[in-house]
Amino acid sequence: MSIENLARQNVRDLTPYQSARRLGGSGDVWLNANEYPLAPSFQPAADNLNRYPECQPAQVIARYAEYAGVTPEQVLVSRGADEGIELLIRAFCEPGQDAILYCPPTYGMYGVSAETFGVERRTVPSKADWQLDLPAIAANLDNVKLIYVCSPNNPTGNLLEPDSLRALLEMAKGKAIVAVDEAYIEFCPQASVAGWLADYPHLAILRTLSKAFALAGLRCGFTLANPELIALLLKVIAPYPLSSPVADIAAQALSAEGLRLMRQRVGEIAANRLWLQQALETCACVEQVFASDSNYLLVRFTAASNVFKSLWDQGIILRDQNKQPGLSGCLRITIGTRDECQRVIDALRPLPGTTTTRQEPL
Ligand SMILES: *Cc1c(COP(=O)(O)O)cnc(C)c1O
Repeated sequence: MSIENLARQNVRDLTPYQSARRLGGSGDVWLNANEYPLAPSFQPAADNLNRYPECQPAQVIARYAEYAGVTPEQVLVSRGADEGIELLIRAFCEPGQDAILYCPPTYGMYGVSAETFGVERRTVPSKADWQLDLPAIAANLDNVKLIYVCSPNNPTGNLLEPDSLRALLEMAKGKAIVAVDEAYIEFCPQASVAGWLADYPHLAILRTLSKAFALAGLRCGFTLANPELIALLLKVIAPYPLSSPVADIAAQALSAEGLRLMRQRVGEIAANRLWLQQALETCACVEQVFASDSNYLLVRFTAASNVFKSLWDQGIILRDQNKQPGLSGCLRITIGTRDECQRVIDALRPLPGTTTTRQEPL
């Protein structure tokens, strides 16, 4: 028997997450993973690597709780927000029986994580304005234990309306956990639902240091929820999810100075986003630039595959979103440095507004 045949059926069937790193490319302008373009400088001080680390490093938890405006008992730290996504499935979903629900176009890991564990993925496409289709969600809640929504949504960049998030939480009461993915919330902090935890025992909020904190390589994320829910996640998390150097750097990133630098980065990215948006609107090949509350712009092009390839050949790597429902012709552009934004515009300007040959699907 081949090793492949020994694997679980759902693993044999699994299409792994197509991360920006896995997709490759040989560019020098990386605008495909919503990373911050410059590396922050940190010195891990840990000199006790002979010892196992704390499962939930107290200083990191205390600092994140203070930053997020919640209590330390409402915070779980994990190996990136991606691990938080997975822990929720492991704690709440019975394989082969329960389902998760999410609303495309959105982040790909909800579905991949569920598939890995043999948990049904149910999708309810968002409406044309990328808001939640609440009646359709209500009609599809049978066996759903976990609902993932993303605000600001990746890749569309829009916030979900607070009223519809409230309605979703009311609808799910006693039935399912609602996980609100706030990976980009630093770019619009007033929109966080962290203040709602007191009202909803079934609310979980996903956060990360990978985006505005410029630490995607650190692999550090957070789940905010009430203590009863956090306790369940702590039952299924690995005994030592964070290495000591990671905990050490995370604590530094969450110090008063770390937060000041983060807010400064957010300001710079917002200024570059505005510049890029306005410049894109003057390019012939651009059909529509969507408003964004995040560190990326979703853009519809008249000939997206040509644009993607043309920039790829010039070392500018974007993220193709053309295959997501409702996003034909769309590419996602991470906001880089001003120079990188300029490179994008310089590459786009010469491209024609319409193609003479019919565009091939990507
Ligand atoms: C980047 C991202 C994550 C993953 O964050 P990590 O902490 O790097 O695992 C989660 N959700 C969304 C919407 C993201 O864009």
